[in-house]
Amino acid sequence: MNNAPAMADKPRIIFATNNEHKVTEIQSAIGDKINIVSLKAAGIDIDIPEPHETIEANATEKSTTIHKLTNGNVFSEDTGIEVAAIGGEPGVHSAYYAGEERSAEKNNAKVLQKLGDNPNRKARFRTIISLIWNGREHLFEGVTEGHILMAPAGSQGFGYDPIFVPNGETRSFGQMTLQEKNRYSHRRIAADKLVAFLQTQIA
Ligand code: IMP
Repeated sequence: MNNAPAMADKPRIIFATNNEHKVTEIQSAIGDKINIVSLKAAGIDIDIPEPHETIEANATEKSTTIHKLTNGNVFSEDTGIEVAAIGGEPGVHSAYYAGEERSAEKNNAKVLQKLGDNPNRKARFRTIISLIWNGREHLFEGVTEGHILMAPAGSQGFGYDPIFVPNGETRSFGQMTLQEKNRYSHRRIAADKLVAFLQTQIA
């Protein structure tokens, strides 16, 4: 008999996202303790609305929408980048900051244009994970402080990665491998809290 733990024996949680970058990042941050199942892998084809004015409320909207469909354990995450000198924009509007087409290039260009040559380049990424576990919601936050470059650099990662440099680094997230980004990443920090919670719940 083979006693090795099979993937099927691990806790299985649906990650309520259509963003494959996020699935890769979260699975890499969580390691192989938990089997993360994307919406696509779960056979759920849905474009979840993000109608709210806070990152927390949008994360909750995503997890509860999928929980209602599956009645199982599910988590979602919502992320925004907050730039101090422009009043915390794009914030909750990060995805479609430069328009409904959700172009990362245009979003980055809009942030750079709004900042101009302002010397205050302070910014932070904020991720909220909403977990629905046995029918109850738990929220986990991850924040990464840093600054905005004068021009995009690097082509790795996604979204605002090419214009954001985390504190303690000189390179943008766009110039880092996934492993390097994970050392600093808001998403990894929130994912660590999720895993710590789940470890208290699973034998
Ligand atoms: P949402 O959480 O999918 O709504 O993402 C909001 C916006 O932030 C989208 O434009 C994403 O591309 C961007 N975004 C989310 N996470 C990251 C990240 O880790 N790096 C860079 N951009 C991100």
